[in-house]
Amino acid sequence: MALVNDHFLKLPNNYLFADIAKKVNAFKAQHPKTDIISLGIGDVTQPLCPAVIEALHRATDEMGTAASFRGYGPEQGYDFLRDAILKNDFLARGIHLDRDEIFVNDGAKSDTGNFQELIRWDNSIAVTDPIYPVYIDSNVMIGRAGVKGDDGRWSNVIYLPCTAENGFVPELPSQRVDVIYLCYPNNPTGTALTRDQLKLWVNYAIKNDALIFYDAAYEAYIRHDDVPHSIYEIKGARKVAVEFHSYSKTAGFTGVRCGYTVVPKEISAATLTGERIALNPLWNRRQCTKFNGTSYLSQRAAEAIYTPEGRQQVQRTIDYYMQNAAHMKEALTAIGLHVYGGNDAPYLWVQTPGGMTSWRFFEQMLYNAHVVCTPGVGFGPSGEGYVRLTAFGSHERTEEALDRIARFY
Ligand code: PLP
Repeated sequence: MALVNDHFLKLPNNYLFADIAKKVNAFKAQHPKTDIISLGIGDVTQPLCPAVIEALHRATDEMGTAASFRGYGPEQGYDFLRDAILKNDFLARGIHLDRDEIFVNDGAKSDTGNFQELIRWDNSIAVTDPIYPVYIDSNVMIGRAGVKGDDGRWSNVIYLPCTAENGFVPELPSQRVDVIYLCYPNNPTGTALTRDQLKLWVNYAIKNDALIFYDAAYEAYIRHDDVPHSIYEIKGARKVAVEFHSYSKTAGFTGVRCGYTVVPKEISAATLTGERIALNPLWNRRQCTKFNGTSYLSQRAAEAIYTPEGRQQVQRTIDYYMQNAAHMKEALTAIGLHVYGGNDAPYLWVQTPGGMTSWRFFEQMLYNAHVVCTPGVGFGPSGEGYVRLTAFGSHERTEEALDRIARFY
């Protein structure tokens, strides 16, 4: 008899967005003619830019002749993309990395979920709260998170609350932890860390021999000079941090699938006898065994983002979404809501009025304004009393949603 990995059974049955879809569908069943606008799910709406489309066409043609056909590619990614990453995302910011420190992947979800395989099940982990759910759920699956309490907290996870009181910037843990998940610019709060604020975390990790798993999926949305685009802008980070990148929100690759992870050669974890093991070769071993590499087409598409035309076109789309974010912030603040984030991120974190629960406010918005938002409590206990709105809609639909919310209030 095969025994199931019962850690999976500890996971809540429903995924947040499935719960939302169920409630929206129930509303639609009662009001089939009502037009609903979603500012909820974090998917993009604008098409791929022309430079990416041209690269995809070219790569497809290459696949059509025996001379240029590509089969299995390198699990770590093609050199043309790794070199473009090194040059544009790092060297341009004064960060020197080697090609074999870059691992191209099919997006940040996979690697932020998988990287924890490299450390023992009994490491302690700390997460900011609220949080992108993949970090905790992947730790639940391997048995590292413990059990979920009635308060929504996992027994073996150290929560670092991000609230209006601390400006959504978590305090350093009061106890030693082995691994800290940080995501900046943050999903869901839309807040960013300045260089000085991030430095505190790198210094904590160095002092406490901890690792930082740093999710930079929204780096392209940073507008302010004092906000770092990479944790490696901070001295010493190469020894303690793994960094995850994604082209999903940078260039609309949610359907194309491509991203990359940086695993510096200096970063290591210990054996029980104290021997230090470099994580870079371990991750390489893991990827070569379990990952087939990202498709050639996706990687050629990603390379095109770094051409002069590609950069301009991608930036135009990011500016488009950030215009939404600015309008949303202004309009919602004008009607008296407390709105956070949205300056260096495509997310707004809105406090529910009068201390209403996240789900209650979600229902009010759905039934009265016909606008879908994401209840903050779905991202963790400290998300209660907030909802997340995304700036990924079209200008027209976003403006219409704002009008409806204003009319309702
Ligand atoms: N990390 C964060 C914080 C995200 O919000 C998301 C997607 O919403 C991801 C990673 C996943 O990105 P990808 O599409 O590259 O898997």
